[in-house]
Amino acid sequence: MSYVAPVKDMLFVLNELAGLKEIQQLPGCEDATDETVQAVLEENARFMSEVVAPLNWSGDIAPAKWDNGKVTTTPGFKAAFRSFVEAGWQGVQHPAQYGGQDLPKLVAAPCMEMMQAANLSFALCPLLTDGAIEALLVAGSDEHKDAYLRRLIDGSWTGTMNLTEPQAGSDLAQVRTKAVPQGDGTYRLSGQKIYITYGEHDLADNIVHLVLARTPDAPAGVKGISLFIVPKFLFDADGKLGKRNDVYCASIEHKLGIKASPTCVLIFGDDKGEVGAGAIGTVIGEENRGLEYMFIMMNAARFQVGMQGIAISDRAYQKAVEYAKERVQSRAVEGSSGPVSIIQHPDVRRMLMFMRSNTEAARAVAYVAAGYTDIARHHPDAERRAAATAAYEYLVPIVKGWSTEMSIDVTSTGVQVHGGMGFIEETGAAQYYRDARILTIYEGTTAIQANDLVGRKTARDGGRTAQDFISQMRATVAEAKGGSAELQAIGKRLATAIDAYESVVDYVVSEYKSDIRGVFAGSVPYLKLAGIVHGGWQMARAALAASRLSEAGNDAEFCRAKIATARFFADHMLVTAPSIAESVVGGSIGTLALAEAQF
Ligand SMILES: Cc1cc2nc3c(=O)[nH]c(=O)nc-3n(C[C@H](O)[C@H](O)[C@H](O)COP(=O)(O)OP(=O)(O)OC[C@H]3O[C@@H](n4cnc5c(N)ncnc54)[C@H](O)[C@@H]3O)c2cc1C
Repeated sequence: MSYVAPVKDMLFVLNELAGLKEIQQLPGCEDATDETVQAVLEENARFMSEVVAPLNWSGDIAPAKWDNGKVTTTPGFKAAFRSFVEAGWQGVQHPAQYGGQDLPKLVAAPCMEMMQAANLSFALCPLLTDGAIEALLVAGSDEHKDAYLRRLIDGSWTGTMNLTEPQAGSDLAQVRTKAVPQGDGTYRLSGQKIYITYGEHDLADNIVHLVLARTPDAPAGVKGISLFIVPKFLFDADGKLGKRNDVYCASIEHKLGIKASPTCVLIFGDDKGEVGAGAIGTVIGEENRGLEYMFIMMNAARFQVGMQGIAISDRAYQKAVEYAKERVQSRAVEGSSGPVSIIQHPDVRRMLMFMRSNTEAARAVAYVAAGYTDIARHHPDAERRAAATAAYEYLVPIVKGWSTEMSIDVTSTGVQVHGGMGFIEETGAAQYYRDARILTIYEGTTAIQANDLVGRKTARDGGRTAQDFISQMRATVAEAKGGSAELQAIGKRLATAIDAYESVVDYVVSEYKSDIRGVFAGSVPYLKLAGIVHGGWQMARAALAASRLSEAGNDAEFCRAKIATARFFADHMLVTAPSIAESVVGGSIGTLALAEAQF
């Protein structure tokens, strides 16, 4: 059940597809030299596979435990978390001013992937802390930044994201938690939050809750939501912890997967703390702009959840390959002296290539998106920054929605490769499948990502960002036409898929106003189509790069495998694009035909 980080593929994607060379030239990114990037990735790979990955299985069989408000994590988690923060991994992408390493997002992305692949449950704690850090960096006051950022980055404290309430899941306009100003700059919060990941635990001294709540005179709906910061323990100017705040964990959930990650019901204002009734907090930024700030945290978290999908897919693929080489069953179809290892059967090859090619394609899309955030932050030219921001924002729902939906198919295929042993817990293949199942639900379900892709990311700019991508994709097709027979075959498939994608973008833009229910009925298929076409485009670029590298005498075996993987993706995934497009453009009639009573 070991995990071997695919550092070679990661470096290939960074260098050949995601523009590391350009990013290294940007002001503020100069420290990310080739040597540094390679050293960071190799050391992260070693740490995650040696320290964090071995706890993945133990977390499944010995989940986090709740006892009278206290949560104890899986044995081994505490020590591993200490080593994680002592090694500085929480700070990879955060400012040096607050103790971070200030490396580009593009370099942080593979580090995230390795941590998530090693252990999804463990990695959720740093994931949420990253989100809290991002929100404070963008919207926090100087006092907030000084009080919290160093401690979050050095891992002595961790962060949480408190959005969900029993009546407010996808629809945050329904948030009811109350925040009453005390006249001294503080607020008292009361209400119930559910499903709060790492809302209580024993890994760190203090927990910093970022909480959506309403002030008494706030307008109804999303315009009346504010964002508050509520520490588990209050603290003085030196950070010395004081009174226990009035926020308590009433219970943790029993779940299908990610069992070692405590999913908490948190009660604010039960008058159980040492501070009287109401959890004491302060407002982040301005009142009533909370959702806007929370979106910063959510976008960071959405990207990371997409990385979780890629990570768990890679882990499942590695496990399936290992098993397929060991398990001996049936003679080869072409004849053999005896039974052969199952990896020799063509259908097992199909399953493994499905797992591998989808994982590599999604990794490439995600890292390319991470590269855009670095350009959006650091490029001296405002136009480049604006274009990169639009490109990144378009890709976030795809990275989140497609990579996680894909991970369910890939981890399920991993179970299938194992046959009956896949259904038996001991192999670990079943855990990957169960763990992956949450990824399409939290941080906005796939439908919520797809609605975002349709509305804010496509219709709002009249399809301009999507069309920009389409032009770049067509340039790749033109390049492939001049290449080997293999590259031409990939290019041909990509060209047909791009036409299908363009027809859907045109449909969304032209029908958005006249047939809004019809357009939204196709939103998830549109997201899936966009994922496949972007994935196929990156794989085509990868094949072109591999062909160039191999002609220049580099790593022939890796390059051949990359081209073959791109070919599989083109022949098995890109070919589905026209049929998905037809479902989007013409498929809403059946979807919406029945009256509610007919269900
Ligand atoms: C293990 C776990 C950890 C979590 N961690 C956190 C956390 O740390 N912090 C936090 O605040 N929350 C957390 N959540 C909550 C999570 O984000 C929500 O469960 C999720 O947003 C979905 O909300 P819901 O469960 O209320 O489902 P609902 O909103 O009731 O959705 C049910 C179904 O309806 C569909 N649906 C709803 N609205 C629409 C729409 N507008 N268009 C199309 N379809 C729609 C959904 O896609 C879904 O299929 C966690 C949840 C779990 C299970």
